Amino acid sequence: MIKIDKTGKRPIILVKQGEDKGKDRLLVETEKLKQAYLRDHIAYKTGKKIFNFKSSWYAHSDIKSALIKIQHGKCCFCESSIRHVSYGDVEHFRPKAAWTIKKKDKYTRPGYYWLAYDWDNLFFACQICNQSSNKGNLFPLVDESKRALDHTYNVDEEESLFIHPEKTDPEEHITFQEAFICPKKHSRKGEITIKELDLERNRLYENRKELHDKIKGLIDLYNIIPDQVPESEIPKAHVVDVLKNMIAPEHQYLNMIKANFGKDIQKIVNDLVYADDNLGSKKSNIQRLRFIFGLSVTYCKDIIVTICRNLSHLFMAIVKLFKK
Ligand SMILES: [Zn+2]
Repeated sequence: MIKIDKTGKRPIILVKQGEDKGKDRLLVETEKLKQAYLRDHIAYKTGKKIFNFKSSWYAHSDIKSALIKIQHGKCCFCESSIRHVSYGDVEHFRPKAAWTIKKKDKYTRPGYYWLAYDWDNLFFACQICNQSSNKGNLFPLVDESKRALDHTYNVDEEESLFIHPEKTDPEEHITFQEAFICPKKHSRKGEITIKELDLERNRLYENRKELHDKIKGLIDLYNIIPDQVPESEIPKAHVVDVLKNMIAPEHQYLNMIKANFGKDIQKIVNDLVYADDNLGSKKSNIQRLRFIFGLSVTYCKDIIVTICRNLSHLFMAIVKLFKK
């Protein structure tokens, strides 16, 4: 799980016809729900009446595309890449129709109906994290007395026991020992989020382990390659090139990578910064590249431009990776 920033990226869907023509569709639909509740709140609380939420609006293609772009196609909870195996869901962080504190408890209605079309409440999630046996309608709070029971309450007074992917930094609550996920400093939020979303599930562990081992192999390789190697052998630059792609924002399980390899990656970046700082004259460029990457003079001349371009890409990836 990695922090998501949706600030300023909310798509606007305008009503195309009728009395609300030109207005913000999500606000119009939200207002309709609030008015319906006020007209007959007892029926909605008892479940005699239920809201007709329209997935065509909360999961509108503009909303879903924006979330996929912001989240780099990854699930907001397990950080798996979704798009190549399924369509993925637009998930309501606060359940729109009903909520429960424990999975086996009865549902309490009417749920967070007024947040059904709220951009802040919407995330892109995989079907497994979102299904009823995992998150579903489960929504426990730190203090149940602060629960917002309808739209007249202030939802900001609530504190969720699930880690909010945008308002809370998951790295403060979740960490990794190799590919094993665990709560950080006995965090209750970390513990509940891992347990209830089943972030320890086998398939996830196996995927994380495979990535962990690949990155460890690359870093080990980087560390044993001498600064100067014959042309026939792999230079450090090639290892950096492969590593760079594995820590890009769109890559899976960045939280695990940071927890395990943050210091190693920082050291490699420091090496590159040192090389970059010394890029002055053409002659010193070549000498520096030879020193850091172990390349021949001819090869250095050919790849100076490429290396500089790669450095800027790597720096951007690192900045994003370590951005709090
Ligand atoms: Zn997931």
